[in-house]
Amino acid sequence: AKVRVAVLFGGRSAEHEISLLSARFVVEALDRDRFEPVLIGIDKSGRWLLQEEALLLSAARDPRLARLNEAMPEIALDAHPGPAGEAMLTVPGGSRSPIDVVFPVLHGPTGEDGCVQGLLELAGVPYVGSGVLGSAVGMDKDVMKRLLREAEIPIVPHVTLRRAAWDRDRGACIEQIAALSAPGSAGFGPIFVKPANLGSSVGVRRVKARSEIEAAVEHAFEFDLKIVCEQGIEGVREIECSVLGDDDPIASVPGEIVVGHADGFYSYAAKYIDADGATIRIPADLSPAEANAVQLVALRAFRALEASGMARVDLFLSPDRALYVNEINTIPGFTAISMYPKLWEASGIPARELIERLIALALERGARKA
Ligand code: ATP
Ligand code: MG
Ligand code: MG
Ligand code: MG
Repeated sequence: AKVRVAVLFGGRSAEHEISLLSARFVVEALDRDRFEPVLIGIDKSGRWLLQEEALLLSAARDPRLARLNEAMPEIALDAHPGPAGEAMLTVPGGSRSPIDVVFPVLHGPTGEDGCVQGLLELAGVPYVGSGVLGSAVGMDKDVMKRLLREAEIPIVPHVTLRRAAWDRDRGACIEQIAALSAPGSAGFGPIFVKPANLGSSVGVRRVKARSEIEAAVEHAFEFDLKIVCEQGIEGVREIECSVLGDDDPIASVPGEIVVGHADGFYSYAAKYIDADGATIRIPADLSPAEANAVQLVALRAFRALEASGMARVDLFLSPDRALYVNEINTIPGFTAISMYPKLWEASGIPARELIERLIALALERGARKA
């Protein structure tokens, strides 16, 4: 029998649209002789939609995804209590065969941060990628940095700021943030202000003057109750490395993002809107020793952050060639131009095999837990 893979996509986060593109990539990469996709879309208001309805979220964008549905049997999602009273997601019809595995292709809060993973744990369904803890840690830049620091993995200087502290004493907070400005830089060295829990550079601002701090902080607080301010590295090179596996994870060849904008900020627009906002270089132009160092630190970060299955580790390389871990993404982008699958392709694992391996890892983990 075919393995029924529920591809969970969309979601309420600011990264909804990216998720639709990622889901399309995953569904298209599935070997249809071995896997049967079950599409579950979450709309922007949080409603869960199955199959035909789910396609409405994306069909307008891509007729290829709509066509998939023609070959699909009649399926309805049925939530009912399992043998131990647990919630179960099953697909009725004939044998009432359950979903074998869920592939969450959700980016950002509630999808990538452990919430959906917790739901799937309760439902007793195996799923691709990190568990509740790894997902939550990977989405929270503050906790992520604390664990990286504890593992002695280099990170850039930063401060975490909570809404309550900001409301209490704005002046003191601004003082603390301004102190992050790199001492060596002429005038004011840039500072990055970010919501603690988000992605796709949503809510992130590059601050170029002390007078801009307040507005950037207010902006970031529109997305989260906690924000992270970081010392900006001028002339930074952005290196990314894909990790795959559970107990013995492997690292891909490193890739590089070459940002087109003069300020070198890989913004939301540079990621998804401007055609020439950024280009990808695979492999990154690094010495063999540097490439090796990137892979080692990516694997260390993956372990330190309790990730499993897959993750994209993003690093910074400074002009004086110091390497820092910027962040981990536990559900990396899977669009046709996304780094995660492209790095694996360049490392000898094409998309079809990658998706298969991710599903196999999820099933193995599910079997071990059962
Ligand atoms: P993703 O889409 O990868 O999940 P994100 O929203 O989690 O992104 P970051 O990766 O932390 O956000 O930051 C977005 C971008 O801002 C980086 O890719 C980089 O271009 C720039 N940036 C962030 N922090 C710094 C820094 N300390 N120094 C220089 N550039 C930075
Ligand atoms: Mg991120
Ligand atoms: Mg992300
Ligand atoms: Mg990033």
